[in-house]
Amino acid sequence: RQPDRRHSGVRRSVVDGRTMSRPQQITVLGATGSIGLSTLDVIARHPERYQAFALSGFTRLSELLALCVRHTPRFAVVPQAAAARSLQDDLRAAGLSTRVLVGEEGLCQVAADPEVDAVMAAIVGAAGLRPTLAAVEAGKKILLANKEALVMSGALFMQAVRKSGSVLLPIDSEHNAIFQCMPADFARGLSSVGVRRILLTASGGPFRQTPMAELAHVSPDQACAHPNWSMGRKISVDSASMMNKGLELIEACWLFDAKPSQVEVVIHPQSVIHSLVDYIDGSVLAQLGNPDMRTPISNALAWPERIDSGVPPLDLFAIARLDFQAPDEERFPCLRLARQAAEAGNSAPAMLNAANEVAVAAFLDGRVRYLEIASIIEEVLNLEPVVALNDLDAVFTADAKARLLAEQWLSRHGR
Ligand code: NDP
Ligand code: MG
Repeated sequence: RQPDRRHSGVRRSVVDGRTMSRPQQITVLGATGSIGLSTLDVIARHPERYQAFALSGFTRLSELLALCVRHTPRFAVVPQAAAARSLQDDLRAAGLSTRVLVGEEGLCQVAADPEVDAVMAAIVGAAGLRPTLAAVEAGKKILLANKEALVMSGALFMQAVRKSGSVLLPIDSEHNAIFQCMPADFARGLSSVGVRRILLTASGGPFRQTPMAELAHVSPDQACAHPNWSMGRKISVDSASMMNKGLELIEACWLFDAKPSQVEVVIHPQSVIHSLVDYIDGSVLAQLGNPDMRTPISNALAWPERIDSGVPPLDLFAIARLDFQAPDEERFPCLRLARQAAEAGNSAPAMLNAANEVAVAAFLDGRVRYLEIASIIEEVLNLEPVVALNDLDAVFTADAKARLLAEQWLSRHGR
């Protein structure tokens, strides 16, 4: 992948031999979330380079209003018409001309707007797929945090990227690390560029050492208390179960055209090495940094340049040691289920993802126990045959079937 000058505002001014006319316009899908806020923090550090074009929220609408006041975007997007009217009134009262759009249609519109240079895809879960694809089809630079979109529709998603010429940059810290450790021409194929394996690091989450007997009783708050990263609640539970690493394994296979057998998961509790690439000559390249998402966000925003992210320098003397261990699939059955889905391909990852979304939402609501998350997913995957996904309708059909089967598990168990 060669640096694309269309996407680098500063470089464009050098190439054109005139001063930069305007900062790059950035749509932030999921602006009120953890990644959204970190993205806006980086954007605000570089007003000469970046301007928020559109911000979306879903439930945290007073936060969205505050973000609009701070970043003065052209558009804001909310899920319902009533909420849109109320936000529009508040924005007017604050003296802003931000226009409020509604629902998935509004999200797709701000993702594909001709004025937009880059789209941060940071909506959580399957809800992010259509707006992210709208950005891909419009040929935008995609900053991909929403791993579920790629897990659900990997083949179609990557095909759409190739067709539109979109530049796809990973935000997930591990994939951003791998991207940084890959040669520029990795799209030729991993074996052609001498890559033996990808080593995907995982912290092991809050339950890495919890006695197995206690796992039956852990609470949502315990699951969300990640030792190293502060994140939204869904991905925090995924990190506790290591489903997050399973989704990331599938994500890595699509982003780097790897087979599941070429991706090895390594538990590294300090979360300082964000992943590694192992080459056939014995060289292993790693990317290190403090666990702060502003590093991958800045890296992707400015790529192929580098900008200040606000992240303090890494203090290796304070860290002192780096540990590694193999993952235990008995402790983390979700990792096994995700690897099986990665190997089965086709509809299996979309089903895995949908069943996981239902199970995690029910766990966060207090309706299922932590260990039941894996049981629900396993049952869904066993009940439904794997089918080919030839178009987006087939993706959403697989998604809906898995959700229904997971809901049936819940009602059968009286939840
Ligand atoms: P959060 O829960 O903090 O934020 C999610 C965002 O999506 C919020 O803006 C939320 O709006 C919005 N949202 C939720 N549901 C919907 C919906 N149905 N339709 C439209 N918008 C919706 O999650 P994170 O920021 O932690 O994660 C976002 C994505 O990034 C996930 O896919 C996650 O896997 C990925 N990621 C996150 C990392 C992190 O460090 N946080 C690291 C790597 C990847 P509102 O808040 O207003 O309800
Ligand atoms: Mg990650």
